[in-house]
Amino acid sequence: MKKANASETLVRESLSLRDKKHLWHPLTQHKLHPDMLGIAKAKGVVLYDEDGKEYIDGIASWYTSAYGHCNTYITDRVYAQMQKLDQVVFSGFTHEPAVKLSEELIKLLPENQEKLFFSDNGSTATEIGIKMALQFHFNQGRKRKTLLAFEEGFHGDTFGAMSVSGLSVYNGPFEEFFIDVERIAVPTDENIESILLQLEARLQQNDIAGFIYEPLVQGAAAMKMHKAENLDRILVLLKKHGVLTIADEVMTGFGKTGKAFASDHIASKPDIICMSKALTAGLVPMAITSCTLEVYNAFYSDDLAKGLFHGHTYTANPLACTAALAGLDLLRSQEIQDSIKRIIASHQGFDLKIKNHPKVARTRQCGIIYALDLNVKMERYGNLRDQIFRHFMNNGVFLRPLGSTVYISAPYVITDAQLQKIYATIEDLLNRI
Ligand SMILES: *Cc1c(COP(=O)(O)O)cnc(C)c1O
Repeated sequence: MKKANASETLVRESLSLRDKKHLWHPLTQHKLHPDMLGIAKAKGVVLYDEDGKEYIDGIASWYTSAYGHCNTYITDRVYAQMQKLDQVVFSGFTHEPAVKLSEELIKLLPENQEKLFFSDNGSTATEIGIKMALQFHFNQGRKRKTLLAFEEGFHGDTFGAMSVSGLSVYNGPFEEFFIDVERIAVPTDENIESILLQLEARLQQNDIAGFIYEPLVQGAAAMKMHKAENLDRILVLLKKHGVLTIADEVMTGFGKTGKAFASDHIASKPDIICMSKALTAGLVPMAITSCTLEVYNAFYSDDLAKGLFHGHTYTANPLACTAALAGLDLLRSQEIQDSIKRIIASHQGFDLKIKNHPKVARTRQCGIIYALDLNVKMERYGNLRDQIFRHFMNNGVFLRPLGSTVYISAPYVITDAQLQKIYATIEDLLNRI
């Protein structure tokens, strides 16, 4: 008889223990942070650990589960699709979920977007946006090899995406391999004129291929926010000088800013838009890079080499496309639209209550994203940050502070009672530190 393996014989050996043997987690120094919490299931806004303890998912599992976990409207549709067509090569073939998704998503995107290119995650979405911008100029015989990006931007962890990310505290070993990127300051009312002057001078060299930016909210930079009007002035200037604009809406897309896309708040529309995270409602990974007809036409040619020779094995996976279609249905529903308005108003009420608290340095909000900076000095992944994280978890709230910033970006289906619980846990923290 075959011997039962360890996990079967030992009664309830915890996930955390079994995890330690073979697993290597993202963004983790395992020597300092050896313990992972085993999550057994999730439903709606609640995560359940293996002991049955509940946690309100205050960041929608990295902004993905916009309509709640294990939402049966989505899972039923994906299950039906699973029994019909699971996966097929997307080079030379097409299928209903991808075609239907293109029809529906184009209606939702800013009106200048015409073509969709599929991939697997936020980093590949931006990587493809960068390649589109570089090849757009290359195909037309222009020498534009430099990219512009905001300071403290975050666009992912693959090489191109990492290169344009200004938040490179942990990218040291790779910096000498980066592609050519120059940074501009994030605009404020104070620095916008000097940014425009410097840019105007820099753009005379005609060597900038594209500008990649997180519109309105820089997520990984701790939910830093800037004004639509100031960003718009930068975009207008860049467009005048033939620079392609690439909006990284991986975090901001699909309702977080109160509109479908952050770019909907800004007069100048991007040439290229990167989407992922909530695109597939937190069910399966997928990404899309959309672009204008002008961008697409620079690749459309009798010359084979002018095509975009980039592809991932699971491109436009039918199950992921189906999850995205179900997500779009929910996003456009009256129920979710009303809920987004309710969350926005609720955060505004909470803000009035705590913004003058002595332990609060400043607060900010964009749509359903609410952030507050604590009036304490601390490191991004330091001890105090860990204590604050534990305070939230002990109280059944999953919030993931970024340095001294505590932010909420919960699923749209969060109830008022769950919101109040998050607020109360934050207030309790303020009164303790
Ligand atoms: C998360 C994120 C990415 C990277 O997405 P992954 O799926 O983690 O590769 C890129 N850009 C922004 C703005 C993000 O928030």
